[in-house]
Amino acid sequence: MNKNIIQLTEKHVAGTYGRYPIVLVKGKGSRVWDKSGKQYIDFVSGLAVNNLGHCHPSVVAAIKKQAEKLIHVSNLYHIEPQSQLAEKLTSLSFADKIFFCNSGTEAIESAIKLARKYFFDQGQSGRTEIITMHNSFHGRTLGSLSATAQKKFHIGFKPLLPGFKYIPFNDLQSARKAITQKTCAILVEPIQGEGGVNIADPSYISGLKKLCQKNGVLLIFDEVQSGFGRTGKLFAYELYKTKPDIMTMAKALGGGIAIGAMAGTNRVMKSFVPGTHAATFGGNPLACSAALATLKVITGKNFLNKVNASGIYFLKRLKKIARKIPIVKEARGTGMFLALELDQPGHEIVIDCMNRGFLINCIQQNVLRFIPPLTISRKDIDSLISVLSESLIKLNDK
Ligand SMILES: *Cc1c(COP(=O)(O)O)cnc(C)c1O
Repeated sequence: MNKNIIQLTEKHVAGTYGRYPIVLVKGKGSRVWDKSGKQYIDFVSGLAVNNLGHCHPSVVAAIKKQAEKLIHVSNLYHIEPQSQLAEKLTSLSFADKIFFCNSGTEAIESAIKLARKYFFDQGQSGRTEIITMHNSFHGRTLGSLSATAQKKFHIGFKPLLPGFKYIPFNDLQSARKAITQKTCAILVEPIQGEGGVNIADPSYISGLKKLCQKNGVLLIFDEVQSGFGRTGKLFAYELYKTKPDIMTMAKALGGGIAIGAMAGTNRVMKSFVPGTHAATFGGNPLACSAALATLKVITGKNFLNKVNASGIYFLKRLKKIARKIPIVKEARGTGMFLALELDQPGHEIVIDCMNRGFLINCIQQNVLRFIPPLTISRKDIDSLISVLSESLIKLNDK
């Protein structure tokens, strides 16, 4: 039953993805089903998108209601859900203003443009360089790709956008050395997602902030993956008690509908005046309604407390696996942003878990990442842990 669709994909869809051989057709909460009716418990969440699980009733209702009223009109006009969403996002964060787009990479492109325009407006047009971190991931369009300091993504696409300098993550001394008169911004994921669920030290993030302030450099946090409750806080920067000047968001914001956003303080956002930047679909009524409904649930009473509690529980169980099974080097993470690092490739484990009804994914070849819906039950966590342990022991004893 899965086979026809797989053949169609292979014949007609661009070959940019290495896909697993299942066709997912239905989802509810933490579960998805494939075309043959097999059920999976989802620890991938559409890549940290479905933070409320699949087809959350509030999000579904908001989409239905808005779809019947108005789907799209363009930013030539005022849009009710867009202004409401901007008000909500600014009231929940450090930011004063929001630029809306459709994806993470577009949010990063907006941040790059804004940082450069900010210094241009100050008469410092030579200040264009952005410092980014090894193992970062900021997206696939050429600007974001140039910001992404992982060589494997650059192969075949040069020349990249000039003006990026790459330094080691979590190393304040390197950041100090890298700043020059040309530096306009430091761009960092407080917790690197695609790079391996690497968690910045608190002193690193607060140190970057001080460094930026001292040198008049803008601090940009990429919270495309870490945002919207994933870490147990609404935004990861709250864990670090350090506010950026600019922040990028996407993934979980729309409850599954494509939406991206770039947030900034008034000081920087005043450089975005009519004609400087745009996105046709950016902040359209449908996407913003879905985001408003999503945010309402995430910011509900006790929601994040529960995420924290289940995150602590999940991490404890992963740590036990790491102690017990020699091929597991480390368990790490915060909230529902968790990982197991192996001393060898982990793809076999992903396949084994999938065959047994669990979706997980593997990044950087050897890091198993767990980014389930924030609402996942302890029972589901327990079931994964037992399947995962068996699978890892099997690989360990090979
Ligand atoms: C996924 C991701 C992006 C890119 O988002 P897209 O919506 O795929 O363009 C950028 N930054 C981070 C941290 C991400 O995890």
